[in-house]
Amino acid sequence: MHILVTGAAGFLGSHLTDRLLNEGHSVLGADNLSTGNLENLAHLADHPRFKFEELDICTSFDPGPVDYVFNLASPASPPEYLRLGIETLHVGSIGVEHTLEIAARSNAGYLHASTSECYGDPHVHPQNESYWGNVNPIGPRSVYDESKRFGEAMVMAYHRYHGVNTHMVRIFNTYGPRLHPGDGRVISNFMMQALRGEPLTVYGDGRQTRSFCYVDDLIEGIVRLAQSSEHLPVNIGNPGEFTILECAQTVLEVTGSKSELRFVDLPVDDPARRRPDITKARTLLEWEPRIQLREGLEKSLSYFRGKLAQGSAASQP
Ligand code: UDP
Repeated sequence: MHILVTGAAGFLGSHLTDRLLNEGHSVLGADNLSTGNLENLAHLADHPRFKFEELDICTSFDPGPVDYVFNLASPASPPEYLRLGIETLHVGSIGVEHTLEIAARSNAGYLHASTSECYGDPHVHPQNESYWGNVNPIGPRSVYDESKRFGEAMVMAYHRYHGVNTHMVRIFNTYGPRLHPGDGRVISNFMMQALRGEPLTVYGDGRQTRSFCYVDDLIEGIVRLAQSSEHLPVNIGNPGEFTILECAQTVLEVTGSKSELRFVDLPVDDPARRRPDITKARTLLEWEPRIQLREGLEKSLSYFRGKLAQGSAASQP
């Protein structure tokens, strides 16, 4: 197949691109590099079935005929979407529509990367796909949450009104190699801080929870969903739930670091807990994650060590 991947220079986009190329497809990767990083695609520079175009999906573009569109373009880490608030709203609305238009024109399949943020600060635990969420529509995080919720509405509309073969994944916290060391997420922050021997910055009292999925597991789930006939959202994430304090402790053990913890203010509307109910993915896709947090952090360690050696952690993506 000839496949368009938007957000191809990002953490997940680059891993998905690798997977699709390995399966024999040809890939056109698009990214405006606002948070993506060409380093993630450097190993593909001479790949005969890969082409990269630096472009913003909020501007109209024509990639030519494609068989499938994976739309992964969006800032995704809290500091980055807060820095790029208006752009984030645009890419989740105008950008999503442009990519759907491309899929409609080509009669192509379509998969949209949505997020557990659609559940906001959830009242239902664990979160299943039928829960409508508890989102503050005007808080600082709303630029991301509402962008993603609008994107879901747009995808469903193109499915219902134009018959596009759409799919939607709600991605829970994911980590692994290529997570930018300076993007501000908890795993990248803790790993880099631990390796530098600096205090680990715990936001709030650290008793909020997250469920962390290793990138290879996530990509497997996305690829299975793309091939399915399911049009409604499907959670892909690891149901293993950890407090941020437990996460910090595991990072200290995996890195062998003696760093202390430094407690700082909790960001506004930071969800108190997050855990995917993955019954639907298990049933429909016969998918479940295989790599648990400690093992995934061990697999990521050499990547973060390499970043430390490069000294690139200080720079933003
Ligand atoms: N967090 C933290 N220290 C950090 C970065 C994040 O304690 O240096 C917390 C953050 O408040 C949140 C959780 O870790 O409760 C996950 O944050 P992240 O930014 O990785 O993703 P989110 O799930 O909030 O989108």
